[in-house]
Amino acid sequence: MHDIIVVGAGPAGMTAAIYARRAGKSVLVLEALSYGGQIINTPDIENYPVEAHISGFDFSTKVYEQAKGLGAEFVFEKAVEVKDEGGVKTVVTTKNSYEAKAVILATGSENRKLGVEDEDKLVGRGVSYCATCDGNFYRNKVVAVVGGGNTALEDALYLADIARKVYLIHRRDSFRGDDTNAARLQARENVEFVYNSNVTRLIAEKRLKAIEVINKLDGSVRAIEVNGLFVAVGRVPENQNFASLIQLDDAGYARAGEDCHTQTAGVFVAGDNRAKALRQLVTATADGAMAATEAVKYVNSL
Ligand code: NAP
Repeated sequence: MHDIIVVGAGPAGMTAAIYARRAGKSVLVLEALSYGGQIINTPDIENYPVEAHISGFDFSTKVYEQAKGLGAEFVFEKAVEVKDEGGVKTVVTTKNSYEAKAVILATGSENRKLGVEDEDKLVGRGVSYCATCDGNFYRNKVVAVVGGGNTALEDALYLADIARKVYLIHRRDSFRGDDTNAARLQARENVEFVYNSNVTRLIAEKRLKAIEVINKLDGSVRAIEVNGLFVAVGRVPENQNFASLIQLDDAGYARAGEDCHTQTAGVFVAGDNRAKALRQLVTATADGAMAATEAVKYVNSL
């Protein structure tokens, strides 16, 4: 039996592990994939205090080593259920089950799909959700990025250094992402902006060859030849497996205040899967600190 199980080894979960270990609690971190979460794919973080520039990979590795160095245990298994038996919570994974007095759900979010036909089939054959992972396959080729948030803007910037041409396709004519990123992108000569438009069809033989794009204002349809399509249309919170213990809002985010408490005593949420106004690295780590502090108080009260 651990004091605290943290589900998810992104910045929120690993920060929670650091705080809980420093408070003397035993901590197990369960993670489905690898440590780091979404931030691991960010090439350059420049808005987190202390380091002016650090890659998402280096940042995540440092936090992981810090948490491990403090004695947090990491197991790479996907948590699929949490059972609440009062003072004991059981976290069921695809392989085992683990018990703890408190659980922090720091599960983050997964890529939102565009929802067009053959999107899943073409992943790895022209369709990607990660520019830093797959961008290098498109050196001197033509790619499109879909989305208008910071991820899409940063992906387009990253790809503009690698690809011959980048189309940035957005369903509106103003960006949700930062003005700084948009201005940097506007200065790039090999980037073409396709505003007020949606990708409606993927045209492929063995691999993606072109995309069909509809202009929402005048209804015109255009086929754009591309070698790659990078989908960056936001994320979907990963709360579905725990919906019986935590209240979700209409978009699937966990309803919990800044104290990270859920409606179930001893179950806390931290990071991007919590309903909040600003999802950034700094707010994710802040959540981790808060959730761990509250979880420690809960464990001490038992
Ligand atoms: P986001 O901010 O939610 O933006 C998603 C974008 O995709 C929006 O522009 C949205 O359009 C568009 N979109 C959503 N569904 C769509 C669909 N079905 N078809 C076409 N377009 C669609 O997501 P994100 O860019 O992944 O960013 C997530 C969070 O991480 C944000 O808070 C962001 O600021 C943060 N982030 C920060 C950094 C950084 O600070 N360096 C880097 C990356 C991400 P509308 O605008 O019309 O809704």
